[in-house]
Amino acid sequence: MAKKTVFITGASAGIGEACARVFAREGFDLLLAARRINRLEALAAELEDEYGVNTHLLALDVRDAGEVFSAFSNLPGEWQQVDVLINNAGLSQGLDPIHAGDIGDWDRMIDTNVKGLLYVTRAVSPIMVARQSGHIVNIGSIAGKEVYPNGNVYCATKHAVDALTQGMRIDLLDKGIRVTAIHPGMVETEFSTVRFKGDEARAAKVYENLEPLMAGDIAEAVWFAVSRPGHVNVNDMLIMPTAQA
Ligand code: NDP
Repeated sequence: MAKKTVFITGASAGIGEACARVFAREGFDLLLAARRINRLEALAAELEDEYGVNTHLLALDVRDAGEVFSAFSNLPGEWQQVDVLINNAGLSQGLDPIHAGDIGDWDRMIDTNVKGLLYVTRAVSPIMVARQSGHIVNIGSIAGKEVYPNGNVYCATKHAVDALTQGMRIDLLDKGIRVTAIHPGMVETEFSTVRFKGDEARAAKVYENLEPLMAGDIAEAVWFAVSRPGHVNVNDMLIMPTAQA
């Protein structure tokens, strides 16, 4: 069977890292991107060793369109043949009412969660279209399905991911490309620490009294969608901790 390649953004931590582990287990070669290259190097060394897969790493800020397009177009040809793209890089930052919001936080969320996802998709998808084959998995959120107090801008970015997923599916459905959105509820990762700008005590409080999802739970859901037969498109999965309202 021909080797397949998965491209995962935000593979240096959390859900992206867990996806790398699951896809390595399934024999995929890994194209991994994030800003913290040292973390990617450690993960790649571990997965090459454990599963014998090939890896290629991109030190990349998805907010920088020029960086995204040049990193992708400078890849060796075989690494541009992406079979599965997992648009995972994202963050929530600040949890403030709209009248007290931090404009820097807004920019970081919109630029990463929406524009970054678009830039990476724009770079990768033409080759999928040319090959008439591929699968794009966007990591959304329960925040893309509802709006909660002080979630304003983060929720807006994840509603955008939901809309973009539907738009991509419409545009790509006659081109042999599948498109899926996976919407997690609360997952225990560095997400909360990033949200509260390094305040670990505040971040830990988020998981009190509720057993959260683990990153591997989401990675297995991504793998479920990708491993369906080619005529099956899992459009949308909402995955919640059992105890989360
Ligand atoms: P983590 O903070 O653990 O991981 C986030 C990843 O995104 C890191 O690898 C980080 O890498 C990368 N990243 C962030 N900004 C950039 C950037 N500008 N350029 C490149 N990479 C970037 O969070 P999670 O794993 O929990 O989050 C992954 C996705 O899941 C996000 O889209 C998030 O919105 C979504 N999600 C998370 C939930 C949760 O409760 N944890 C719930 C619902 C959705 P680096 O810093 O090295 O660049």
